[in-house]
Amino acid sequence: MTKLFALQKKALVVLLLMSGLCAMAQVERPRLIVGLVVDQMRWDYLYNYQWGEGGFKTLLHDGYRFNNTIIDYVPTVTAAGHASIYTGTTPAFHGIAGNNFLLHGKNVTSVQDDTERGVGGNEKTRGKSPRNLITTTIADQLQLATNFKSRTVGIALKDRAAILPAGHHPVGAYWYDGDSKSMVSSTYYMDKLPKWVANFNKQHRDELASDVYNLPVGTTLTFAMAEQALINEQLGQGDATDMLTISVSNTDMCSHSFGTHSPKVDSIYMQLDREIAHFIEVLDQRIGRGNYLLFLSADHGGTHSYHRMTAHGLPSACWHNPDALVAANKELENQFGVKKLIQDEMEYTFCLNHAAIDSARLDYNLVKRAACLALEQPEEIQWAIDVENIDTYPIPTLLKERIKLGYFPQRSGEIYIVPRTGVYAGKIEWAGSNHGTWSQSDSHIPLIFMGWHVTPGETSRLTHMTDIAATVCAMLHIQAPNGCIGTPLIE
Ligand SMILES: [Zn+2]
Repeated sequence: MTKLFALQKKALVVLLLMSGLCAMAQVERPRLIVGLVVDQMRWDYLYNYQWGEGGFKTLLHDGYRFNNTIIDYVPTVTAAGHASIYTGTTPAFHGIAGNNFLLHGKNVTSVQDDTERGVGGNEKTRGKSPRNLITTTIADQLQLATNFKSRTVGIALKDRAAILPAGHHPVGAYWYDGDSKSMVSSTYYMDKLPKWVANFNKQHRDELASDVYNLPVGTTLTFAMAEQALINEQLGQGDATDMLTISVSNTDMCSHSFGTHSPKVDSIYMQLDREIAHFIEVLDQRIGRGNYLLFLSADHGGTHSYHRMTAHGLPSACWHNPDALVAANKELENQFGVKKLIQDEMEYTFCLNHAAIDSARLDYNLVKRAACLALEQPEEIQWAIDVENIDTYPIPTLLKERIKLGYFPQRSGEIYIVPRTGVYAGKIEWAGSNHGTWSQSDSHIPLIFMGWHVTPGETSRLTHMTDIAATVCAMLHIQAPNGCIGTPLIE
């Protein structure tokens, strides 16, 4: 007994000594992390435009560029992209399997949360939260590492682009509500909008009422809101490292409507350049260039429109997901005599109607096989894959891995569609661009780090979207997010 007591006492002394050491250890960290994600920004856009002074030019010259950063999963869409950048992992682990996915059999949006309500705008609107995001983010890890002294704010026009990057316990996340034409939040974060957000909505009433999705004013409002968050929440002014996540959404929305390299999209990028220039000035003044770490990336790239490609004799084709669903269901009805055997399509995944299969006493595997064959019928589709049996398919390992890394059981559909490379998901009469596939167009994204402890330079070695969170955390000497599969890029 006494021996045991002596051992325990010894262990206690060691523990106390260790905790003393921990308290003494001073780790150098920046005052602020700024995450800037540009929705649907193709990597080649960095080198496509004549940038002005202070914006992209400064990022390109003063930052470190990773010129070959790839998304390692499909579907390459907004919610999955934002979640993956900030968690350092993929849908298979963080659970954000698409912009929409199944939750308890119901098709929901990535940030939908019926237990919460909207704050600001129309307060009867459905609430939103990051609860569907299973793993931790950079911001969550910052809080764990600083005993919850670190503070984060997330800003974007799109709800998912504001909510997912900011993690599970930010000061606030704010996004644009098209019904009330104002910046709003959710009861998950607060009961009432802070005064500065209410004032922002008042001061910018006219701009907020305009077509923010397709005009440069949407970009200006995003950065104006981010600047107000920086000032009013005093980010970067406390004892711990704070974080500000900004996502530019109208680059994506406008490109879906008018296409890559359309004058409207070009004008948004030129405005984005000016906004970044102004924002870097603000950061330099308030925080100091060497005291903040900024990274710029994208949630996914974009496939050029059918018309842009074919007008110049380049291969392209169109395939429209909702039409494919109708056609496949018709084919299955002919075979099995039951309507709507495929319940839904969510971008490139299709889920079977389990209730209909059960009540008609059909063989699930037989229906699934028939559904794959029906979906694979159009010439534009290379494979319709039964993901539960993916290892039996003679498809390239690269593709297999990307499908697996993007698949979350019960949330993803059990059938995954791989269109032929270069196929635009949309109707032939549409002018816009799209994304979601494994191809270079959709999966090659820009990545630049600038500021604290970053020496200018560039590399074309292969890096991954999941490396972003791993790098930020390694630089700060904090534990990477709990699902992180990336590798720190310490060049
Ligand atoms: Zn999009």
